[in-house]
Amino acid sequence: MTRPIQVEIHRAAIRHNYLLSRAQAPQAKAYAVLKANAYGHGLLDAVQALADVADGFALLNIEDAVRLREAGIQQDIVLLEGAFDAEEAAAMTHYRLGGAVHSQQQISWLAKGSAKQPVSVWLKINSGMNRLGFTPAEAPAALAQLRAQPGARVDALMTHFATADDDYGVAEQWGRFQPLIAPSALPVSAANSAALFRHPHTHGAIVRPGIVLYGCSPFADIDAAGLGLQAAMTLSSRIIAVQKVPAGDAVGYGRRLVAERDMRVGIVACGYADGYPRIADNGTPVAVDGLPSGIVGRVSMDMLAVDLSALPQAGIGSRVELWGPQVPIEQVAAGAGTLGYELMCAVAPRVPRVVNN
Ligand SMILES: *Cc1c(COP(=O)(O)O)cnc(C)c1O
Repeated sequence: MTRPIQVEIHRAAIRHNYLLSRAQAPQAKAYAVLKANAYGHGLLDAVQALADVADGFALLNIEDAVRLREAGIQQDIVLLEGAFDAEEAAAMTHYRLGGAVHSQQQISWLAKGSAKQPVSVWLKINSGMNRLGFTPAEAPAALAQLRAQPGARVDALMTHFATADDDYGVAEQWGRFQPLIAPSALPVSAANSAALFRHPHTHGAIVRPGIVLYGCSPFADIDAAGLGLQAAMTLSSRIIAVQKVPAGDAVGYGRRLVAERDMRVGIVACGYADGYPRIADNGTPVAVDGLPSGIVGRVSMDMLAVDLSALPQAGIGSRVELWGPQVPIEQVAAGAGTLGYELMCAVAPRVPRVVNN
């Protein structure tokens, strides 16, 4: 008997979510965003789910991009932050990788390239997020410089939205970015998941869905199922002990939950060292043998407690879904003051992985 926690990856869900996402922008290509180990789902597992359908892939490290090439991936691969040094810029040619160019330094690294094998670059515009990119004022000069580099071929004009998922929207950033499009005569790549689903005028030539591929909504007002998405990750474990907690007694560290009435509590083999957020509030949802319940008390390193008071059938061995098809990861994230993105990326290496089709 091993510790019963596991994380399941559902490849068919990733594929379904990709096809559904791409259908939101039928005239555009969709490059699947695979950074952070495919948002914690496993880089190669996610790629295998998408290899025969995806238009292209986008990720962060050149090491990961090389793993895709070595796995036989032929599609375009774009490094979202471009090269981190001159050697990487050279390796991009060798592995036929594209990448963002967001700084003067990166332009200078391309100077050694050859016109025979130019690197495909996406000129990154800082349209207001103030993270990476050339400002709209700097953009024409940067574009002219890049176009003068034999080692570079400029294939897209790129930006990234800070608020595509919320009420602030994209109007301000789009208003700064849009005037650059016609003079550059470049294809556009601007839309993340939220802009793909909510701001069709930003679709351009290439959309870059990330979070939706993994079955998580980027919006606070609609969940994944409401968008037609399927959970691609299930974190589950089992109850390993049951406690009868008399009214007035507390559960777990810090006495965060004091029982108002007699309670029945199940102890689950999952804790913050597995990636479950320690800060999750009382009542953060779980499903026990498919029935809704919530966590009680503070999450420990290796265990957490769930309320079984209304679930008399549940006991030792009952399956507890922490997130997945029965428990939207967005709701767990809301209970912990974070986003599904962070939870997916944080599942600990010690959790055994099972990959389904
Ligand atoms: C992460 C990322 C995306 C995908 O964002 P989601 O919100 O997960 O869809 C797209 N573009 C860039 C530049 C990114 O860094």
